[in-house]
Amino acid sequence: MEPAELAVAGRPISVTFRRNAKARRLILRLSRDRAGVVVTLPPRIGRAEALDFVKKSAKWIAERLSREPVMKPIVAGGQILIRGESLGIMSAGTRRGAITIANGSIIVTGDPVHLQRRLVDWLKAQARHDLVQASEFYAQAMEVKFIRLSVRDQKSRWGSCSSDGTLSYSWRLILAPPFVLDYVAAHEVAHLRHMNHGRGFWRLVLAHCPNASRAKAWLKQHGAELHSYASA
Ligand SMILES: [Zn+2]
Repeated sequence: MEPAELAVAGRPISVTFRRNAKARRLILRLSRDRAGVVVTLPPRIGRAEALDFVKKSAKWIAERLSREPVMKPIVAGGQILIRGESLGIMSAGTRRGAITIANGSIIVTGDPVHLQRRLVDWLKAQARHDLVQASEFYAQAMEVKFIRLSVRDQKSRWGSCSSDGTLSYSWRLILAPPFVLDYVAAHEVAHLRHMNHGRGFWRLVLAHCPNASRAKAWLKQHGAELHSYASA
């Protein structure tokens, strides 16, 4: 079903529709990226009726969104979580060279005008590095092979695994503590053996990643925060 867009409290909100044969009524929730809402449709309710329901719920949506953390810009003088540590963001002025971490700060080189872009590009490269390393480690341990690995800004999931052997991850995992990134890698790599969340799948994950439930709890608690940094 074609998504829709609505203005709520002067803010554009995306509306995604999901059909669910088991739903008993229309269900509304915020999307995981907090940029919109997801509405679940029970059988026999059409898109128009669902959209009407969303419009009537504008007050609820506005109220829920007002409780969400605002998007944090990545600016000099601000803070950012990197590998689970909160670091101060500093600009090195126009000095060239590599971005470095020292004494609780991340020092971003290059023109300060491009600081956000430079830091996000650097974080994506770090994410790729750590995710390749973790995925290769678990692939070897679980005796499976992946074909490709991509790092993107996927909003709805931390990682995914396709049947052709492609692993995809959110770059924002680099913001989380390493045990969380490791768990997501173990989870996706385990899907190369079990394309489901059955008992065999969880047995395999837990055999290689004893921190799984701690990592899941961390993501549940801090996931929205990881998505709260502006990315461009
Ligand atoms: Zn999964």
